[in-house]
Amino acid sequence: MQTPTKKMRVMDTAGTSSASSPSPYYNIPGYAHNVSPLKHSPKLRGQYFNFTFQTAKKDFHEAVCFSAEKRKSLATVADKKTPVMLRSVTKTVPFNTTTSTDDQYDVRVNQSTTIEPLKKQALSFVHLVPPSLQQVSISYVYDKANIDQAVTVLAKVIDGPVTTDRTTREGKHLVLTKYIIADKDSTIEANTWGHPITLKTGISYRFSHALTKVFDNKKYLLLSKNTDVKEISDLGKVQQQMQQQKETTTGSVQSINAIFNYHCTSCKKIIPDVSPAAILIRCNSCQMKQTTSSLLPYMVVKLQLTSSEIKFHVPHSVVQDFLNRTEKQNLLTDANSIEDYFLTIQAPLTLQHDNAQVEYIQCLTNDTSTSTTSNQTQENMSPAEQNADGTPI
Ligand SMILES: [Zn+2]
Repeated sequence: MQTPTKKMRVMDTAGTSSASSPSPYYNIPGYAHNVSPLKHSPKLRGQYFNFTFQTAKKDFHEAVCFSAEKRKSLATVADKKTPVMLRSVTKTVPFNTTTSTDDQYDVRVNQSTTIEPLKKQALSFVHLVPPSLQQVSISYVYDKANIDQAVTVLAKVIDGPVTTDRTTREGKHLVLTKYIIADKDSTIEANTWGHPITLKTGISYRFSHALTKVFDNKKYLLLSKNTDVKEISDLGKVQQQMQQQKETTTGSVQSINAIFNYHCTSCKKIIPDVSPAAILIRCNSCQMKQTTSSLLPYMVVKLQLTSSEIKFHVPHSVVQDFLNRTEKQNLLTDANSIEDYFLTIQAPLTLQHDNAQVEYIQCLTNDTSTSTTSNQTQENMSPAEQNADGTPI
């Protein structure tokens, strides 16, 4: 365990650093959430616990504390939603990224750290539930959750455990334990690597802070040591049919054709050549006159990826959803700009599709776990190992 130096780098409440000294100690105000039970780490020969630390309205950091006696005071301030100043903590690189920036870091609470409760109004932001504890459905995990996104689901165990031995890149043996869990509409695999979580078939649980992962183009939930599993009252009837997973293809856009048209509000057929200056227009198909501003915009995109021969068809709603998520809504009526935008996206795209009909587009920034097809087992085991004791390596 390190001891603090005299030089302290102090972070004020605005989150700016006030000294240029490279000393690794910070004072950070915020709210503690979700303080875990004490855990034992053979590697570190000691006890530790995790929590989430909120440092701004939308900034949540994973935190680890190696000083078991601090657990009680942190659990108390978390329960009472009391703001605190953590004095003399270190910032570490988050486990699912390679670099830490001013905004992206994990917090390490040391032996020398003090926890100082602040007045209720001391912080300029409110206590909010961390995104990883916001409850989502299993369908959300399949359709919306990003890779490595932490989620909370309520689900019933319908099958398992099935265990297999796996070997990591470093030659270490780990036991993979698989369960199938289900909610009202969907089922998903819930896996643990190398550490035991025992679940009972037919029992419902709340899985807090489970991680969304992909293996063999299939999403699953990773139950790490940071995942809190609590038995809850029976969820009743749940989906028993294993989810038919959508096919996905990942690659960069090689060629694209976007076609934009306005459709008639009455007969839904295309109205060609709508002049930007026109206020009223008559549909040549159904003869109904209408305002041009009420016409239905419709963008259809065909594209090919570098990795596949398939010519994908992307319907309007999917194009619109993707542009909304990447904050490019203004391109929705401009076919030429959409083509240019897709061709210049730096990160690979993952298309979820039914045959060639695209249902969801995901842009994989900062993520390499699905972009390679070889070594997939190893690619997927490495982060799991890091997660396993909740500490960055
Ligand atoms: Zn019409």
